[in-house]
Amino acid sequence: MGSAALQDAIKGITDWGVTVGQVAGRLPKATEVFGSLTFNDEVQKTRLPKPVYQALRRTITVGEPLDPSVADIIASALRDWAIEHGATHYTHWFQPLTGITAEKHDSFLTPAPGGGRAVAEFSGKELIQGEPDASSFPSGGMRSTFEARGYTAWDPTSPPWLLKNPNGATLVIPTAFVSWTGDALDKKTPLLRSQEALSVQALRILRLFGSIARRVSTTCGPEQEYFLIDRHFYFNRPDLINAGRTLFGARPPKGQEMEDQYFGHIPERVLAFMMEAETELYKVGVPVKTRHNEVAPSQYEIAPVFENANVATDHQMMVMETLKRIAPKYGLACLLHEKPFAGVNGSGKHLNWSMTDEFGNNLLNPGDTPHDNLQFLVFCAAVLRAVDRWQGLLRASIASAGNDHRLGANEAPPAIISVFLGSVLTDLFDQIEKKSSVAAVAHGALLDTGVAFLPKLPRDSGDRNRTSPFAFTGNKFEFRAVSSGQSIAMPNITLNVAVADALESIASALEAAVAKGKKVEEAASELLPKVIKEHKRIIFNGNNYSQEWQDEAETRGLLNLRNTVDALPEFIKPESIRVFETHKVLNERELRARCEINYEAYIKTINIEAQLMVLLANRYILPAAIDYQKQVADSVAAVKTAGANSLQAKKLLDRLVQLVDDLKAQSDDLAHQLEHQNGSTAEHAKHMRDAVIPVMNKLRDTGDTLETITPHGVWPLPTYREMLFIK
Ligand code: ADP
Ligand code: MG
Repeated sequence: MGSAALQDAIKGITDWGVTVGQVAGRLPKATEVFGSLTFNDEVQKTRLPKPVYQALRRTITVGEPLDPSVADIIASALRDWAIEHGATHYTHWFQPLTGITAEKHDSFLTPAPGGGRAVAEFSGKELIQGEPDASSFPSGGMRSTFEARGYTAWDPTSPPWLLKNPNGATLVIPTAFVSWTGDALDKKTPLLRSQEALSVQALRILRLFGSIARRVSTTCGPEQEYFLIDRHFYFNRPDLINAGRTLFGARPPKGQEMEDQYFGHIPERVLAFMMEAETELYKVGVPVKTRHNEVAPSQYEIAPVFENANVATDHQMMVMETLKRIAPKYGLACLLHEKPFAGVNGSGKHLNWSMTDEFGNNLLNPGDTPHDNLQFLVFCAAVLRAVDRWQGLLRASIASAGNDHRLGANEAPPAIISVFLGSVLTDLFDQIEKKSSVAAVAHGALLDTGVAFLPKLPRDSGDRNRTSPFAFTGNKFEFRAVSSGQSIAMPNITLNVAVADALESIASALEAAVAKGKKVEEAASELLPKVIKEHKRIIFNGNNYSQEWQDEAETRGLLNLRNTVDALPEFIKPESIRVFETHKVLNERELRARCEINYEAYIKTINIEAQLMVLLANRYILPAAIDYQKQVADSVAAVKTAGANSLQAKKLLDRLVQLVDDLKAQSDDLAHQLEHQNGSTAEHAKHMRDAVIPVMNKLRDTGDTLETITPHGVWPLPTYREMLFIK
């Protein structure tokens, strides 16, 4: 079986150029197609009456509410544009708490009065609001079935786009998804709320510094890691199909130890795939920019230019969907799981994050003047406070069964959240803290440099630290512990709430000082040392993978929430509920629902994986091992009959018998452990972690050992050696 898949894969690799190569050769230029399938700013400008266009712009840039009277005008312009591009249907596209996106398509077609004919209709009402049946989406107890109605609400700040299919096109309208009581049933609603919360607090500080900005947005650029393997292997691995990761698989003789993959030459078929995926993304306005090989064999990365975090979050979902959709055209399967293969690096999603005003000033960009620099230090200190105070929440925002395989596994940041600032900024913060005022430090630095009071911070210096979960990289922070398969909404939301909260406390202190007659420079100069003193424990520039850091983090009192089950309770601590409610991002019910849904997802994931392991053990591995056992037993008997004695063959037989026994006993034990399902979701999740996962690990060891002694022709599953290196 395994070898049949291998033959198919080899054929696929030799044939792909013939079947799809010509298509790749005809890809249009990015500049010609970028945004061609989006109702973007340019299209809006040409198709909307000027006052309508301007009203929409104000909504997008400074968050002004959109007058419903203009919705009809926008709807008809949108419909005309979509139909001209071949659209027959439209869909309200939303991001329920499943972690993926949802769409229900409706035709533009309406029977014309008088019967017999039909016309294309699309009203403002249909643009603004939809009503999908919400009962089949997870609500974490927020909604009972008799209140099953859910509403989708148009998000005018994220441009609509066209989903093309060989047989037609569908207009996709990004929407928020709420229950009839107004509870957020999705990821976009709280994201938008969190951006608003952060804007309100950031503006208080900007105003003190004399800014006239009306809006602060968070910006975000997520770097997506993923694996590509030949599709024939994929189809022969039930675990990859149903769990997204391999549940058995012995380490190959060659893994990633030669360090010959990272930034290495991209295989031709893979590059062709990347080019087409990128072109599809350009068309729908996703500004992907960077592609390269990642550390593990057959692992790659795609990264866009940063955008407003709301649009970036929509676009990130589109990136994941596009990678999955295009890969089969090239005979490939795209794996977005955090740990598809044991023993080589898993996949993450680095979330680059910053704040900007509507004029495009990046608030985390060190300035050229002392005044700008001071403002930068205030925002930077706010992020420190945010991460230190809300480290548990940030950890919870990235918790999942999949990410548990990565965090702390010496390939990804540990489960301890800390901040890498780099030596220049750390030194500076150190001095500020010791001298108890920025002014005192400034004075000295002024004498040294003669220009500005802060040394110019090197952008993207050699001072990079890949082991840090949360790193300052010159003009933005990079949240590196985010997982490859997850939506970036929740880490963004959590970060926004945490920073909004820190900004609020800092703004209040500064405002109070200014009200007493202090200049903002003086007030900030005196406040910063206190903030730094309080939160410097969160700064760590060393090796996050080391055991010393685990020990030191403990003495510093930092949290070390090793797995999902430890992390999720952070969501529902009283102070977490308070901070989410104060900033009107999630109410207690909404927050508890998310916690509950995460528990459920964890339980379901482990349950599916464990069941798959039982299936693979009994229906794939065991029959193969028993066949081979018989073969060896026959041989031992035959040798004996012939009057000889093979000690080694007998040893092999004994080993096989033992492993087969173990495999059967362990898979029965695993099935038995799955029967226990009492208690709350939190207790059930604990059972999965403490009783189920250890048996899964044992069973895997046994299966993998069997793989290493079973003949190639008998082994029923594609191996790591094949999947990772045949490309
Ligand atoms: P690095 O080499 O440090 O990873 P890059 O400049 O290559 O930095 O950027 C990595 C990602 O960070 C890209 O997706 C980029 O768009 C994003 N990024 C850059 N500046 C910002 C910013 N101000 N806000 C959010 N993301 C940003
Ligand atoms: Mg990076």
